[in-house]
Amino acid sequence: MSWSLQVARAFGIPIRVHLTFLLIVAWGAFTWGSQHGARGALFGVVSMLLLFVSVALHELGHSVVAQRRGLAVREILLLPIGGIAALDGKPSRPRDELWIALAGPAVNFVIAVGLGAAIFGLNAAGHFDLAAARAMTPGGSTLVALLLLGNLTLGLFNLLPIFPMDGGRVLRALLAGRFGMERGTRWAAGFGQVAAVGLGAFAVLSGALVLSVIAVMIFFAAGRERMEAKALGAMKGLRAADLAQVPGLLLEPGDSIGHAVAKALRTSDGVLPVVLGETLLGVVTRAELALAMQRGRAHEPVAAIASKAWVEVELGTPVETVIESMDGARAVMAVVHDDGVPVGVITRDHLHSAVLLSSLAGPPKTVAPGAPSGVAPRDRTEW
Ligand SMILES: [Zn+2]
Repeated sequence: MSWSLQVARAFGIPIRVHLTFLLIVAWGAFTWGSQHGARGALFGVVSMLLLFVSVALHELGHSVVAQRRGLAVREILLLPIGGIAALDGKPSRPRDELWIALAGPAVNFVIAVGLGAAIFGLNAAGHFDLAAARAMTPGGSTLVALLLLGNLTLGLFNLLPIFPMDGGRVLRALLAGRFGMERGTRWAAGFGQVAAVGLGAFAVLSGALVLSVIAVMIFFAAGRERMEAKALGAMKGLRAADLAQVPGLLLEPGDSIGHAVAKALRTSDGVLPVVLGETLLGVVTRAELALAMQRGRAHEPVAAIASKAWVEVELGTPVETVIESMDGARAVMAVVHDDGVPVGVITRDHLHSAVLLSSLAGPPKTVAPGAPSGVAPRDRTEW
């Protein structure tokens, strides 16, 4: 993601900070500085940074458990409103989701208990200034107390059963274990949307700006998950063969790029297969053809720019597996017979439109190619 800087790396996961994060540090400096001068401003900066170290550790908690359960973690991103751990794929078993979801808040509770013990020990040794902490005077005692409160709040807030927050994921995992993933998601996400409205109303009435932004984001994220679950339910039973787009036009490896463009004008297919006899040699997108033309490569053979990066699925592959496999940068699938002879292709756009249609109208009989995507089957989850 642009506008972000990598600040650390842990367990092989890049930890990045979004530049808008500086706003929250500046806000900390301003709030504390306006009451306590330069010392207060410094305190504001340090306490904000340490609070976000706690947020990063929360995300690492999710990430490490996800890694243990076979999911790769792309990055952890810290934003002013909190952190996001971007996981490749989704936990397939409710039990995995349960443990991944619980791991984040658990980290905050462990930190809170550690800080509580530290305060207890310091106080017994006469090194904890309880009066200063109560009066919120900038200093060591106040800092430890604030971090304790911050971690308790982080752990408890995230456990609210509002999907897709951690507590909502726990709820979904419990429902999914009993009623299946689709119904579990629809119920948890539906409840999450209702609860997000309540949270938003509370945030507006109490003037909590950040909380109201979070409530809006939760509302839309839950809505997207609910639509996706509904679409998956509607598409149940479909196979790769039902989604395979039979190309209107085939390219031959010897076709020049200029000739391929002329052919492409006669079809709306987003991806054109390059075929020799019954063998699929590669795939070319319209955008790649346009780029090659721009670079003056019109006379070169199309085979020179054809990509071999596609995923093969057999005719009988269930749609759930097709969606899961639609990962990576290229995201073109060749649908093949048992003997490997290609039948058609499925592209990401194609799949998006199929999911969109299904979420609105039940299983698609025929699927319009290249329709704009509204509900995207996401190949990553954010925690
Ligand atoms: Zn979390």
